[in-house]
Formats: sequence, C-alpha cells, structure tokens
Amino acid sequence: MLVIFNLTFTPGFRSTLALHTNLIQVAPIVIVATGMTLVIATGGIDLSVGVRARMDGRWEELKAGEVVLAAGAVHSPAILMCSGIGPSKTLRECGIDCLVDLPATGGNLIEHPIINVELHLQPQFRTVPDARHVTCCVRYSSEMVGAGLNDMIMIAMNLRGYDHASCQSGLISVSAFQAFSRGTVKLRSTDPEVDPDVSLCMLTDERDRVRLRDGARRVFALARHAGVQDITQRVTLGATDVSSEDPDDADLDRLLLEEVGDALHVSGTCRMGATDDPRSVVNADGCVLGVERLRVVDASIIPEDPRANTNLTTIMIGEHIADRMK
Ligand SMILES: Cc1cc2nc3c(=O)[nH]c(=O)nc-3n(C[C@H](O)[C@H](O)[C@H](O)COP(=O)(O)OP(=O)(O)OC[C@H]3O[C@@H](n4cnc5c(N)ncnc54)[C@H](O)[C@@H]3O)c2cc1C
Repeated sequence: MLVIFNLTFTPGFRSTLALHTNLIQVAPIVIVATGMTLVIATGGIDLSVGVRARMDGRWEELKAGEVVLAAGAVHSPAILMCSGIGPSKTLRECGIDCLVDLPATGGNLIEHPIINVELHLQPQFRTVPDARHVTCCVRYSSEMVGAGLNDMIMIAMNLRGYDHASCQSGLISVSAFQAFSRGTVKLRSTDPEVDPDVSLCMLTDERDRVRLRDGARRVFALARHAGVQDITQRVTLGATDVSSEDPDDADLDRLLLEEVGDALHVSGTCRMGATDDPRSVVNADGCVLGVERLRVVDASIIPEDPRANTNLTTIMIGEHIADRMK
C-alpha cells in the first residue's frame, strides 16, 4: 500500500492553523505573543471575552467578540487552565480561581510511540544533510481486537538528523499510529510564560506494548534482509544492548521503554465531545463548554487517535470549523 502524507517542516517555525486555514478569514487578527491568558467575563451579563497577552514586552488586554484559541495541544489546555478553565481541584492547588470546572482539560493526551532501528550505512550509500529524510512508509494492520485498520506504520529514512554526522545512518522506524495510552498536560505555574508539565505516558497501555513489540520484530526481520545488509556496515537498536537476532519479550520491553520516542503528534488535550460527557472540553463546533464566545480549534480537540499524521488532520479541523463560523 502506498501512502501519501503531508510532510512540512521548516527548522525554526511551525504553526498549522495560523498558516494554512481559512480561519484567517473569519478571525482576521492573529496574535503572536510570548505569553497569554484569556479574559473571561463571568456572570452571564457581559459576554465579552478577550486576551491578555505580552506584546513587545508589555502586557496588553484585547477585547474581542469571539476568541479562537489555536495554541496547540500543549499550550491550549495550559492557557485555559491559567485562565481559570479546567479541573477545579488542580486549579485550586495552583492558586487559580476556577471560573469553569472542566475536569477533562489537559487529559486525554494522545501521542504515537515510535522506535528506531539504526542502519549504519556504507559510505557510498550515504546522503547529504538537506536530502529528503523519509523515503517510504508502509501502513499495516496489527489485527488486534479493538484496533482499526492500518493502526501501525513503518517509516524508512535516508538519514537520522540534519547534520553531516547524521547522514552516516538511515533508520527504519515503527510506530503505533493508533495509540491507547493517554498522557496529561499539567500547570507548573500560574505564570502563563512558564511551560506546563507534559507527561506523554507512552506504552503505559499494554495494547501499545504488544503491538510495538510485534512491530520491532518485523523491523528486525527487515534489517536482516540481504538488501539491507548489502548497504549497511552494521545495524543497531538505539543505545541498548538488545540483539536483533531473537529477542524475548522481556528484552524487547526493555528496548521499547529505553528507546521509545514520540512522533511529534501530540493531540487530544481539549477533547471534543457531547456536552454531557465528562471527558469533553469543547462541543462539535469547538466551543468551550460553559463559556460564551470562546473556541479551541487545533489538534487539542481531536477526541480519539486519528490513526494518521496530525498536520492535515488539524488543517481540516480548522477548515471545517471556520466554515461553520461563517
Ligand atoms: C518538528 C515537527 C515536525 C512535524 N512533522 C509533521 C509532519 O511531517 N507531518 C504531520 O502530519 N505532522 C507533523 N508534525 C505535527 C504537526 O505539526 C502538528 O500536529 C500540527 O502543527 C498541530 O497544529 P496545531 O495548530 O494544533 O498546533 P501548532 O501548529 O503547534 O500551532 C500552535 C501555535 O501556537 C503558538 N503558541 C503556543 N502558545 C502560545 C502562547 N502562549 N502565546 C502565543 N502563541 C502561542 C505556537 O508558537 C504555535 O505557533 C510535526 C510536529 C513537529 C513539532
């Protein structure tokens, strides 16, 4: 199966919704600031909302008819919590007055666990730093009960980084693109400029460990293939001493826990759902439950693992909700 997926990365800058969606047309002011809290009017009479943001070193308050928060799956829940929207107990512990008790804020963090087998390439098969890194992806189904079609992915890469040293190796990676483990985003400070604590909690769900173990065995088999052997000097499994020959489950679990990385696909922390579902933070239009004229529109509202790369998914969320706002 050939899969075409969106691949966009410019070192130093990345922002999906601000750049790509027609949200720009419905919300013509895009605020770029270093810190931010929301100004939420309570009491139901003054429905105005706004943003308190640090701009050019000064804190400014900007009123708006409606606020669309698109700070991504790490910072959108943090901004909500700093602004008094979130789990009341946690907010109280942080010394923040709870305006709206939304217990699910910052929970349900979805990430795709990935492990890499490193192919130390013979010199004639090495590439240059700005070459395309991903060469080919293969999606496959683990067929585990409860997992959907194409829940897994293998990714072959020409190089493992962006400098000359990184061109000495290629990678074959395997990842669970339908993860069942869930992490959290928690506030560390009431200061909106302090990043929150992020716990990815990858592989905490047994279903992810079972499928990634199986995925690792499939990649090891590929690495032993003559075609791979012909272009490599040696093959290693990260920094562990686990052998690719015939690792048992315990060795594989050690490898997975030491080597697992994230696929940079964090989502789910302001979950979209039914208004009476305690797991929900926003409704089907991205509106924050219990708050007038405030929406979250970014990867944080993805309710379940999209079983896909998250950039196009997030762009389509932006396009869809922007259409509903017109
Ligand atoms: C290095 C990297 C490579 C990736 N490669 C791919 C890929 O190849 N394919 C793919 O499908 N996905 C990829 N992803 C994932 C994809 O980029 C994200 O899923 C997507 O960008 C999420 O969009 P978003 O709008 O939710 O958040 P973002 O795109 O992260 O946008 C959030 C914006 O809010 C800003 N912000 C945050 N907090 C504040 C604040 N307090 N004040 C002001 N601004 C704030 C951030 O600076 C950022 O610009 C990659 C991610 C990374 C990090």
